[in-house]
Amino acid sequence: MKKLMAGNWKMYKLKDEAKETASALVKLLDGAAPEGREVLLIPPFTALRGVRKALKKAKGFALGAQNFYPSAQGAFTGEIAPEMLLDAGCAYALAGHSERRHILGESDAFVGEKVAFGLEKGLSMILCVGETLEERNAGRLEEVVRRQMEAGLAGVAPGVAPERLTVAYEPVWAIGTGLTAGPREILDAHALVRGVLAEKFAASAASMRILYGGSVKPENANEIILLDNVDGVLVGGSSLSAESFAKIAAA
Ligand code: PEP
Repeated sequence: MKKLMAGNWKMYKLKDEAKETASALVKLLDGAAPEGREVLLIPPFTALRGVRKALKKAKGFALGAQNFYPSAQGAFTGEIAPEMLLDAGCAYALAGHSERRHILGESDAFVGEKVAFGLEKGLSMILCVGETLEERNAGRLEEVVRRQMEAGLAGVAPGVAPERLTVAYEPVWAIGTGLTAGPREILDAHALVRGVLAEKFAASAASMRILYGGSVKPENANEIILLDNVDGVLVGGSSLSAESFAKIAAA
């Protein structure tokens, strides 16, 4: 199973800058993802076209979307459908990112609708889960992650192709704060995620990727990527620079 090194560009970069960053990243990596790695770029919608062009000849790179609405089409002003993302070259999409849960108020059930619908329409899905600092301090990590995963995966068929379903463990207190979970915290949370996956997907859970996200940077990526049950990283801030994301991708 290749490790997935994903860069979430959130609401940053105009289309030209996004294309330039993607081209620079491809150049820094000599035109191909490092051995045993898949590099995923998740730019804003308006930059998908340019980033797709920049990745055209590169090997082992993929394009992803930050969000979509779980309907084929319709009167959903401001939303975008999975088929439109596939048409724009996306292979992956995120669901349940903490910024969407906490800023946009997305519920566990709505996130679950997206995961199931995205898979059904042909996207590979990355379900993001993670506890707030308050929840962790109250000893509720397991309860929260389990609840988010059970709801997030409720509509997923037990026979789903394991390479199409990824879970990103992203403690909310470590996203964009400069705070990173320590090795023990990552090991424990990822073992929990693997266990919940195994309850639903039995043996194929072992072939599903679990990413860590939360202030991953070139300085800590080497240590994180070697941990048990860490099958890649989801990177925000440090993926905005081609130089730092190239170092992380090759960690
Ligand atoms: C993220 O956006 O998923 C993330 C982990 O952000 P950062 O790397 O900036 O903490």
